Amino acid sequence: MDSHSGKCLAVDLTTRRAEIRPLPQDLLRLCLGGVGLGTRLLAEWVAPGTPPLSPDNAIVFASGALAGTMAPCSSNHATVTKSPLTGFLSTSVSSGHWSLSLKRAGYDALIVTGAAESPDYVFVDDEIVHFNAAGHLWGMTTQRTSEEIRRHHGDDRVRVAAIGPGGERQVSYACIDDGYPLSHRGGAGAVMGSKKLKAIAIRGTQAMAVHDLHRLEKASLALNARARTAPVAKNRQSTALDCLLAVNKQGALPTRNFRESCFKGTAKLAGKDDSGYRVVKVSACPSCPIACRGLLQAADGPYAWAATTLDYQTLAALGPQCGIDNMPAILKAAELCQQYGLDTVSTGGCIAWAMESFERGLLAGEDAGGIDLSFGNADALIEMVKQIGERKGIGHLLAEGTRRASAKLGRGSEQWAMHSKGLEISGCDPRGSEDQALPLAVGLGAESDDCWLCLDSTTDRRSNPGSRNKAREDQATLFDSLLLCRQSEDCFHDFLSEAADLYAAATGVGLSPTELERTGERITTLKKSFNIREGWKRSDDCLPPRLLEVAASARKGKAGELAEAKLKAMLDDYYEARGWTAEGLVPHQKLRELGLDGPPAMGKGK
Ligand code: SF4
Repeated sequence: MDSHSGKCLAVDLTTRRAEIRPLPQDLLRLCLGGVGLGTRLLAEWVAPGTPPLSPDNAIVFASGALAGTMAPCSSNHATVTKSPLTGFLSTSVSSGHWSLSLKRAGYDALIVTGAAESPDYVFVDDEIVHFNAAGHLWGMTTQRTSEEIRRHHGDDRVRVAAIGPGGERQVSYACIDDGYPLSHRGGAGAVMGSKKLKAIAIRGTQAMAVHDLHRLEKASLALNARARTAPVAKNRQSTALDCLLAVNKQGALPTRNFRESCFKGTAKLAGKDDSGYRVVKVSACPSCPIACRGLLQAADGPYAWAATTLDYQTLAALGPQCGIDNMPAILKAAELCQQYGLDTVSTGGCIAWAMESFERGLLAGEDAGGIDLSFGNADALIEMVKQIGERKGIGHLLAEGTRRASAKLGRGSEQWAMHSKGLEISGCDPRGSEDQALPLAVGLGAESDDCWLCLDSTTDRRSNPGSRNKAREDQATLFDSLLLCRQSEDCFHDFLSEAADLYAAATGVGLSPTELERTGERITTLKKSFNIREGWKRSDDCLPPRLLEVAASARKGKAGELAEAKLKAMLDDYYEARGWTAEGLVPHQKLRELGLDGPPAMGKGK
């Protein structure tokens, strides 16, 4: 018995047909699941050059070998598509009951293609698929949509992943709300909106199988025990605020559209007694002993009762990035993002860009809809989130993301559009944390890794940046493909051995630590190969001019610097460490070494 079902559900919205297809064991062994499997399937199902918002783009929801088992922090799935924001690959990982339902319905992956003529929602009831009209749900918030669908089916086992008005209007960074409140990047919600797919509901009732229950129990209990001890316990409750304080102390906190890298209002935001919010409860994803999800609620004032689970990236983007030190306003803005179905990081990045444009006199008066877009204006933050979600007024421009918005506005505003490959930069300034420069430049977009690197205690940071980044990137890819939450990293004493043990217990497939490490490299290369076929060039691995030419005014007058030549040297080092060409391309020899030169394993074959 194997925890992989070996099955994939392909749903075509144009023909309103669904088909269950086999997934070869070789493919699962090669890509594990999650982001690895999702990337491989997307590459096979979507032709090169396909526009992200065309019916021919696909969204792949991929489960993992450990989802639904007793392995801690494993109730996840990956969402993989071609991003409307970057035109390249987009991957994100969610956790929660929808992930478990996908697995319990009996699928390792769900592939959605085509486009409905009018709004639809898909209901996957184990092996039966229903296509339901969703006109009455169109315009509803994500949460209300989920409530309505669950009420209609009258069964708590039905779980829903839905888009909000932001996805319907194809805001380039709209996300899918599957009950996991942390930030999702890249615009998968806009892809769903372009398909007129309001939601995917799943009722999964099948029992989970694993290869060796005793072995899995032993390995899981050890990890669970460690999750209750320091340093893992530090991830409980106040992760976002603790992280904010640490990054600020390091002089790496993006502040006022990256004009500074230290925010004076941080202490006020982190002060629990007088900053106008309370921690209502701390919760956990299914199967997680860490419980990092703190639900925060505004206590009083104009945003009283606004409540949301706040992750660090959201707090940084809607707070210091926009000069906001008002926690209730940040909670309200985050809550609205969730209702509209918007990625909080890109939303904050776009508003910060608009605020700087306003202060420079480029977006004033009627252009700004009469709104005072000064940094620090909490009411403006709230209004802008609404306008983006509804594509109204200046929100219509900002819904395109900073790259396209600045190209439209022109007049030099591209200089302060803080993105890489079109994706707004997340919460770490590489001028204050040089370790972040490579991941931000070479990643799928400008996404720092929840401060993994900037809070890393590695002592010798300056030597071999390329090989260090390769190792971290491949390990992160393994977490996302085995679908273990990255926050559980500290539970592992020897990640490769222990993860290989979990995988073997669940699937019966024995991989040595070296083979697993190689698998991480294979999947990272797979992601890169997808982007190369979509036209990636070395010049795409870059950072905005502000980060390379201007020193950040950090704390105590100490400026953080990152010159273009320094980034170039890091990139050379990184490509060499990966065995890629000096132009960052993957040689055929490398593809062969990694087993990626074969024919498609599954094929679209209608
Ligand atoms: S550590 Fe946090 S995000 Fe990760 S599985 Fe646990 S509760 Fe969910």
